[in-house]
Amino acid sequence: MLALAVSGLILITVFTYIYQLVDRFETGASSIDPPSPYFDHSNILLVTAHPDDECMFFGPVLCNLTSKSLKNQVHVLCLSKGDAENLGNQRKRELVKSCQVLGIPSSRVKTVDHPDLPDSMKIEWNASLVSSIIQEYVTKHDIQIIITFDNYGVSGHTNHQAAYRGALQYVKTSGNGTVSLYKLPSVSLVRKYIGLGDLPLAIFSSRMVKTSTPKNSLLFLSSPGQYLITHKAMRQHSSQLVWFRWLYVIFSRYMVINELEKVS
Ligand SMILES: [Zn+2]
Repeated sequence: MLALAVSGLILITVFTYIYQLVDRFETGASSIDPPSPYFDHSNILLVTAHPDDECMFFGPVLCNLTSKSLKNQVHVLCLSKGDAENLGNQRKRELVKSCQVLGIPSSRVKTVDHPDLPDSMKIEWNASLVSSIIQEYVTKHDIQIIITFDNYGVSGHTNHQAAYRGALQYVKTSGNGTVSLYKLPSVSLVRKYIGLGDLPLAIFSSRMVKTSTPKNSLLFLSSPGQYLITHKAMRQHSSQLVWFRWLYVIFSRYMVINELEKVS
């Protein structure tokens, strides 16, 4: 009975994926949901906490939004250089290389090196400080859309959560209603590590959100080619590629599936 259920799930997953691929091939769209008009010809800022967050968690979003057909200017603001093991300068360089693979030039990548924003699970970053850093970047580059983690931060890392709190504070206090914030929803541990097997659930939950809040949720699926690009970007972070990260790369659904939910 269990074998039957598992076989059924695998079959549904494979068919869903093939359908999406065929659909994309025929329509030229690069994600399951055609990006909203706001995601075209826009200045978009991804706010992360550490070098490698951009490809470990946001690969499908970046691969789709940097698509030449959309004419977006995508920026990455990384709030720390990931100096927990004194490898910050190397990790900063790796971030630039990773972003280049993802289609983002070095001129649109900034790594913050602030003493009060260390790469640490134990030190809480001040939301007002993060907000002010985001404000400075947004103003300088005329950003219209901010994308970041949600309040759990996918892995539960306190720095990821602080990125969300800072971005939320910025849009609520200083954004003047001109900047939209989108968050990357965290999923359960089981869903996180079943890779493409999470696609039926992701489609279902995305549709549920849409029913209650129309056009506030988008689902991004990487094509096989885009998955390979994300994989290549990940390989630029050579200082981080220890054995358990390879397991992450193989099994994580965030390497192929992303949702974005509009916060404000
Ligand atoms: Zn991180």
